Amino acid sequence: MIGKNPSLETLGEAFQIYLDEHRDEHARFKRMPADFGERVPILCELQRTLFDDGWSRYGWSEENGGFGGTVLHRAVICDLLERNGYPPRQNFEHLDILPPALEKFGRPKVISDLFLPTLRGDVLWCQGFSEPTAGSDLAALRTRAVRQDGGYRIDGHKIWTSWAKWSTHCLFLARTGSVEERHRGLSAFVIAIDSPGVEVNAIRQSNGTDELAEVFFDGAMVDEENRLGEEGEGWAVAMHILAGERGAYAWLRQAELLQKLELLCQAPRAAENTGVLGESLTRLLALRCRSREVMEILARGEQPGPESSVSKVLVIDAEQQFYDAARQVLAPDLDLGFGENAQSWQASYLYSRAASIYGGSREIQLNVIAKLMVSQGKSPRTEARDEDSATVRESVFDALQKSANTREALEGLDWWSYGVEPDDAFGRAAFAAWFEGQGAVPTISPALSAVRGTSWAKFAGVEANQLAVAVDARRDRDGRVLAVGVDEKTRWVVVEDEKGQRTLHPTGGGAADSDALDSQLLRWVSIASDGSTAAIPLEVDAREDRRRLALTRLACAYEILGASLALVDRAVAHTNEREQFGQPIARFQAIQHLLSESQIDIAALSALCDASLEEWSSGDGEALSTTSKAFAGRVGRNIAQRALQCFGAIGFTDEHPHHLYSRRIHTLDAIFGTHYALHDELANELIRTGKAPRGIEVWRSAS
Ligand SMILES: Cc1cc2nc3c(=O)[nH]c(=O)nc-3n(C[C@H](O)[C@H](O)[C@H](O)COP(=O)(O)OP(=O)(O)OC[C@H]3O[C@@H](n4cnc5c(N)ncnc54)[C@H](O)[C@@H]3O)c2cc1C
Repeated sequence: MIGKNPSLETLGEAFQIYLDEHRDEHARFKRMPADFGERVPILCELQRTLFDDGWSRYGWSEENGGFGGTVLHRAVICDLLERNGYPPRQNFEHLDILPPALEKFGRPKVISDLFLPTLRGDVLWCQGFSEPTAGSDLAALRTRAVRQDGGYRIDGHKIWTSWAKWSTHCLFLARTGSVEERHRGLSAFVIAIDSPGVEVNAIRQSNGTDELAEVFFDGAMVDEENRLGEEGEGWAVAMHILAGERGAYAWLRQAELLQKLELLCQAPRAAENTGVLGESLTRLLALRCRSREVMEILARGEQPGPESSVSKVLVIDAEQQFYDAARQVLAPDLDLGFGENAQSWQASYLYSRAASIYGGSREIQLNVIAKLMVSQGKSPRTEARDEDSATVRESVFDALQKSANTREALEGLDWWSYGVEPDDAFGRAAFAAWFEGQGAVPTISPALSAVRGTSWAKFAGVEANQLAVAVDARRDRDGRVLAVGVDEKTRWVVVEDEKGQRTLHPTGGGAADSDALDSQLLRWVSIASDGSTAAIPLEVDAREDRRRLALTRLACAYEILGASLALVDRAVAHTNEREQFGQPIARFQAIQHLLSESQIDIAALSALCDASLEEWSSGDGEALSTTSKAFAGRVGRNIAQRALQCFGAIGFTDEHPHHLYSRRIHTLDAIFGTHYALHDELANELIRTGKAPRGIEVWRSAS
């Protein structure tokens, strides 16, 4: 045993040893029958075993019988179960959703009766919020709780109550106040499902299971001590639960889907569908990085607010895209249900269609996010992790704004000596801020090619800040190559041929505008085509070179992030000012949803880039950097399109800055691997190894 309150890393190591030692004994938990009802007892037995062996009490307060820690400790356990091939938790998903509210709002007797039995899987929960006439508008619910005989008499009708058929207890909302009080008139209660006056009628779902049910209350009685929180505090309880549902749940889902992606990649036709499989991987890793950030907010005891709505939409989209990919890889068997394997994929595919409805519909999440953006007048930013990072970011942005060109800003900050080597926290903050800022003020910068070229420059004995990198070794009849980051001080260009051989050339006739989408980023540089100028062959360490390419891709992803933020900020400002039909167009839901869709992409991209940089510094960020670039290329182009839609025709003109950012995003997507090519690259690697990279652990890497 590792004792109470272990570090996340210690818990992870110890739990993995336990799983290894019990592999044979636990094999029975990994074989799940097709029938859902037969699965429940197996899942309960697994939960009981984990409790009795001491593992399912981590992440819960010692005061209530837990072994200390936070939601992050629970995330470690869940992650390792999935990585070791255990089945999805299904009805135990409620463990991360309801017990936190029980701990926070429950009275001592309820906690002492129900808390540990819940962690042991002896008490099984369902959540009674929705009603026939109250779905998205939960505050309209009608189930009544009327004070009677020292308790409450409950009458009403809940619907879409997941797992009710197998539950022992229900946590539900009822109206203790008047209808006019809306959400202020609600209270939360717990009740045993076998209480007199409670009846459960299962509803068969489109995928053939009985997960959903109606729950009828007909004069059922609950004691006052079964109320969670004070009378009228039901909405606070509900919001606490929904934040958990939209936050910690996201982590559960990515863990489950990464395991399923590994399985799908073993299908015979996986290699023909690398585009969609690579996209699935990038979405799931972005979700993983983003949901860790939200769990960290929850672990600090704070409420994530609209942040959890962002996670919820990311889960919905990742899950639905993943099962779309499965449908393509397993066509036509998944649709036709040929064979047992296809039937189970079909059931999961059908369930994924409901992901955009349960837990608060996708549209409602978009409304929540947009409301904040429109009221703040810009895209909400993730806070810098500490004061030092915040200072570095500020000085980089300031220097970029005040300098005549980016080279002047780079040199003024002595960037070459640390920014290009982001191994420590300071270097990381500078690196991230530099490239993000660079994307937000699109001008030529030699920084991008220096990231790739640093090790080459060292070998060639030239200054990294005088070097440019040719893109795809393209060369026209006049010997011109297209190079990235060229300005008047660039003296050398490195050309890499199709075989990966590199040569260093003097830049010859200086730089000329290119006909590429963003000539601010890519310029033509002349190199004598007759070979009259010296071409110095370069040999570099292959591993170091791969790492440098990964870091360059990450720099591109940060630039796309910067350009995207600039576009979204401008779009929010424009839609708050521009009036049509007598009001600012930001009031129209269609416009709000364009804004929030982009905010969701930005939040995920930002989490992915930051996690990649952190992993890169600890020596293992290559897969995540490539993932960041692929993700950035895909979402950046969508963000640019949505912004244009907000600007209307004015955004399509030359004098409007939209096209500068949009071009930059497209160009950055095209160089050092398009998102299409990177999806293929990532999926091929996954098919080859059979293992999806996780990129990050729940704990942050040490360096
Ligand atoms: C598989 C599954 C499991 C579920 N489990 C539970 C559970 O355990 N407990 C529980 O209490 N509930 C559960 N639900 C219910 C779920 O929370 C509701 O279905 C959901 O909140 C939507 O409510 P509704 O079905 O009444 O649809 P409605 O609210 O009628 O919505 C219909 C459509 O209108 C859209 N819409 C509504 N209002 C707006 C608006 N203001 N702006 C834009 N669009 C809007 C919605 O997005 C949706 O597309 C579950 C549902 C499913 C499908």
